[in-house]
Amino acid sequence: MRSYSVLEHNRPLVPVESEIPRLVGSQVLVKIGHAGVCHTDVHLWEGAYNLGGGKTLAISERGIHPPLTLGHEISGEIVATGPDADVTCIGRKCVVHPWLGCGECATCQRGQENLCMTPQFLGVQHPGGFSEYVIVPDPRFCVEIGDLDPAQAALMACSGVTTYSAIRKFGDILKDEPLVILGAGGLGFMALSILKALGHKGAIVVDIEDSKLDAAKNAGALTTINSGDEDAAQQIIDATSGGAVAVLDLVGAEPTINLAIASVVRGARIVVCGLYGGELVVPLPYIPMRPLHIQGSWVGNLRELKELIQLAREHGVNHVPVQERPLSEADSVLNELKNGEFVGRAVLVP
Ligand SMILES: [Zn+2]
Ligand SMILES: [Zn+2]
Repeated sequence: MRSYSVLEHNRPLVPVESEIPRLVGSQVLVKIGHAGVCHTDVHLWEGAYNLGGGKTLAISERGIHPPLTLGHEISGEIVATGPDADVTCIGRKCVVHPWLGCGECATCQRGQENLCMTPQFLGVQHPGGFSEYVIVPDPRFCVEIGDLDPAQAALMACSGVTTYSAIRKFGDILKDEPLVILGAGGLGFMALSILKALGHKGAIVVDIEDSKLDAAKNAGALTTINSGDEDAAQQIIDATSGGAVAVLDLVGAEPTINLAIASVVRGARIVVCGLYGGELVVPLPYIPMRPLHIQGSWVGNLRELKELIQLAREHGVNHVPVQERPLSEADSVLNELKNGEFVGRAVLVP
């Protein structure tokens, strides 16, 4: 099988031919139909995450070293099973849940493998989607997609489940209350679509760029607010009749989290999903007295991916436009993404 792999950080991806490994235990082999390319892939290729404020985190500190086969947004079809896997899963058209853990620890046993202390993510610690095939440790991680568009379904594994998991952390309060979304990028649009599919009230979208706010309005935002306005916090308070109860920070920068804290009511929940970087300084008495919930959200778990795929199959969930590219162009796609030349999302097709 052919994969496009990182043999050295910041060097072009290299086509690598290898034998398909013999499957063991309950492993299954997925023939890849589509593999999304994400900004995380760019960071893994470069070998460092940007923490903001000029700080970086080398991925080697996390024990991740080349050779790497990137790609964690994978859809395809199960074509072979290991000796202990149920053969009836062969032929299943699926999206692969890539956020795997050790499978043994208490966190994994609770079904939160995305939070395992020894992550085994596909496309990070294990070979991922920039390839013709991927090995998945168990067919339960291959979520059936039915007649969903397979390119769109692939993206559900990352930006989709990240957004869905963050939204679910607010619970049912969003049925009646608007969600304030900070950041009108790809995840912001995904969030609007998921809220609609869930039958929730909708969202007030805040961003610093008017063109993005116009697009958010067209995508169904209840109201839009420019965070560059001096009175942005007051505008949010007015638009939410006295203060927001739910804020989703998809940027994760000092100005956005501080805007969130300035515009919420007592008892509100703020979920931070963005990774822009910076620091948060809050007077400690605020936490009990206001009382604030500030919660992080990190990708999503298998149950949430299944719920999202179900939602997408029943109600439709729109993503940003997708551009399909041949797998052989994996290296140029990464470069285009790095240089900000890419509009929408790129999906590689082997
Ligand atoms: Zn991703
Ligand atoms: Zn674990």
